[in-house]
Amino acid sequence: MKQTEVYKVNPDNPESDRIEAAAAIIKAGGLVAFPTETVYGLGADALNADAVLAMFAAKKRPLDNPPIVHVSDAAGVYKLAEEVSSKAQLLMKQFWPGPLTLVFKRSANVPEVTTAGLGTVAVRMPRHKVALALIQACGCPVAAPSANLAGKPSPTTAQHVFDDLNGHIDAILDGGPTCIGVESTVLDVTVEPPMVLRPGGTSVEALQKAIGDVQLHPFITTQKELNSEKARSPGMKYRHYAPKAQLILVEGMVTAVMGKIKELISACWMADKRVGVLATDETAWAYEADVVKSLGSRRNVDTMAPNLFRLLREFDEENIDFILAEGVPTEGLGLAVMNRLRKASGYNIIRVP
Ligand code: AMP
Ligand code: MG
Repeated sequence: MKQTEVYKVNPDNPESDRIEAAAAIIKAGGLVAFPTETVYGLGADALNADAVLAMFAAKKRPLDNPPIVHVSDAAGVYKLAEEVSSKAQLLMKQFWPGPLTLVFKRSANVPEVTTAGLGTVAVRMPRHKVALALIQACGCPVAAPSANLAGKPSPTTAQHVFDDLNGHIDAILDGGPTCIGVESTVLDVTVEPPMVLRPGGTSVEALQKAIGDVQLHPFITTQKELNSEKARSPGMKYRHYAPKAQLILVEGMVTAVMGKIKELISACWMADKRVGVLATDETAWAYEADVVKSLGSRRNVDTMAPNLFRLLREFDEENIDFILAEGVPTEGLGLAVMNRLRKASGYNIIRVP
């Protein structure tokens, strides 16, 4: 077991001595978790194959699911990508720094393990001051998947990272809770029109406004598990975000959803199971269950995203057997929230009218 150091850091004005200490660890091949505007990432030198392998091992992440490579300026892309189209440049100009990951044809500089042997590399420039300062101080691109154990909900606080990875990584930069709360949108710009492989912190509507036609990979909208052969992004085929409890997602008109959830609560209690409801501000009052939590207001789905992963982890602390989750509208960040809920349920979805 390693000793995992936790360094508190000011998210708006990161202390340079702490950033330098963290960068020294990464430059020496170590692993440091750090906040980004989406979720916490687990950073390793993207050009050091041994460091990237150690990152996979710490997360228990399958080797065929590559991390996103983080850069501190747009120029960093040109060392990683073989080809940067004019459309990609426009997207970088408009959305970077920010929660948009672009998939490019990879250059030969990038070790095989960093791209899981794919011909492409996923790159993003984060917006968080701590992330940018750290990557800059490292002087290398930083491979950083979410800093959770594979399969668990992504971490939105340093405590979540500590709970999953204490003893397996060198350090955590604690810059407080992350603000967006779901991971970046992954957009493949090697195809025309560009294809969203994972919905996330940049809405599909904003992408369409910027570049017009955008395709959505069928995995995003599906309500059932698709054959993994069809996965274009390796992460699509793994169970994700899963709390220990069995999550059942109920989708449809709000009143019908509420009726169905009440019925399921009774069934759980009859079976002597502890049941939690993941509701919304407008509906939470109506449920009687062991635990009821609200994701936020249906009037602004973007405000739900920062609560999602924290609430899924909280249900586990309360020893809930079943989580009954309401579906939410899929506009804006709602699409990312619903994608995470569908995956967290293992596609255990009930549709009501
Ligand atoms: P994470 O960093 O844990 O949020 O996961 C990164 C996501 O990006 C995963 O879903 C990966 O499958 C996806 N990804 C990384 N590299 C590529 C790539 N070259 N092509 C397609 N998807 C990728
Ligand atoms: Mg992840």
